[in-house]
Amino acid sequence: MFKKILIANRGEIAVRVVRACRELGIRSVVAYSEADRESLAVRLADESVCVGPAPSSKSYLNIPSIVSAALITGCDAIHPGYGFLSENTYLCEICERIGITFIGPPRHAIEQMSDKAMARQAMKEAGVPIIPGTEEPVSNLERAARIARDIGYPVLLKAVAGGGGRGMRVVHTPEELASTFEVASSEADAAFKDGRLYIEKYLDRPRHVEVQIIADKYGKVLHLGERDCSVQRRHQKLIEESPAPNLSNRTREAIHKAAIKGAKHIRFHNVGTFEFLVDQQEKFYFIEVNTRIQVEHPVTEMVTGIDLVKWQIRLAAGEPLGFDQKDVEFRGHCIESRIVAEDPYKDFAPQAGVIDLYIPPGGPGIRVDSHLYCGYRVPTYYDSLLAKVLAWGDDRDEAIARMLRALDEFVITGVQTSIEFHREAIDRTDFRKGNVHTKFVEEMFSNKV
Ligand code: ADP
Repeated sequence: MFKKILIANRGEIAVRVVRACRELGIRSVVAYSEADRESLAVRLADESVCVGPAPSSKSYLNIPSIVSAALITGCDAIHPGYGFLSENTYLCEICERIGITFIGPPRHAIEQMSDKAMARQAMKEAGVPIIPGTEEPVSNLERAARIARDIGYPVLLKAVAGGGGRGMRVVHTPEELASTFEVASSEADAAFKDGRLYIEKYLDRPRHVEVQIIADKYGKVLHLGERDCSVQRRHQKLIEESPAPNLSNRTREAIHKAAIKGAKHIRFHNVGTFEFLVDQQEKFYFIEVNTRIQVEHPVTEMVTGIDLVKWQIRLAAGEPLGFDQKDVEFRGHCIESRIVAEDPYKDFAPQAGVIDLYIPPGGPGIRVDSHLYCGYRVPTYYDSLLAKVLAWGDDRDEAIARMLRALDEFVITGVQTSIEFHREAIDRTDFRKGNVHTKFVEEMFSNKV
């Protein structure tokens, strides 16, 4: 087992990894930027090292700084969290060369899955259904127009290197395609240093259902059930839950099987997520693989009782999975609300400030993962996630009731948050009935006026 792990991240996930290390008896070192000197992760970790100024390009994304921090503190592994360098194959390669373990899937899997066109191709080979479209990037408008006509409008132009909900454009007509193809490519080039695009069919109000995969280095690949993450805004998830409501067991099992098949095909190990869209006829299609821990991982932890972050570390250290698929038990229902420092009623504008009161909810079935404390200054440089509230119940109704109670109890003052929005969304009849899809939030706001 590792002796010391460098945590190359911030916010709630850095705290989450420190906690996992502590429970495993491993020393933790938090790499922090100048803006995060006073962070909770720095306070809780055994050691900390400043890796640069506030902008992430100079700190959390600065590979030489991160690697030096690991070396000077004598770490034998790096946990990258999510975002930042978590899917960066250069960091994986450097780690391999200097004998530090990168806690995550193998480099070949990260590389193959970070290119969305390559990922589609691999899944097609594996026999996993993909959305109709191209497996190769489309080089020019003429070809794009032909393909779009064949699959039928509306289509989605997707950046091969896109991620985080960015790099996608819906196109409704040939004229729109003609006017946006070049623009979309230049935008992708500017954002991801890769202008290549591919095309897929744009599905009408699909649901986002993803499967948590856990696998060891010896070929054992298991699923830990699915999460429905349909409640999104601009392709960013706001509410996640497990199990997915209103999904037939037949489809549910078929999606689990497809994810396992895909994972085996790319010789995946460690933890990762296979994402699918499910249309209104319950046909499902692969969209992408996230080769890292995800923000919403606690939802799965709450229904399976399996600690995903501790397992990430143990699997990276070469431990075999100590259980089989039949041992994985799913209990009850869990919902997560991502509380962000944004004003939902002002187009989710990011908010900054100093937290003057922080009273997290508690009681039966509630878990809060957060890096907040009274007096904490929310920096403006990073993503706006403040806290994840998880509500577990024997069934979905109890989980909803507990979530609403928890949101009522939750006090954060000093910065505008999305707590009120979550309360409103979860209390809606459609949500209560489990009628969720990726346009839920948009429709919720348009129905108001
Ligand atoms: P990212 O890597 O940026 O997260 P994904 O491919 O995972 O991108 O897609 C994110 C979200 O975008 C999905 O959850 C869904 O809401 C929407 N989306 C992606 N592809 C399609 C599609 N073909 N049709 C409709 N919505 C889509």
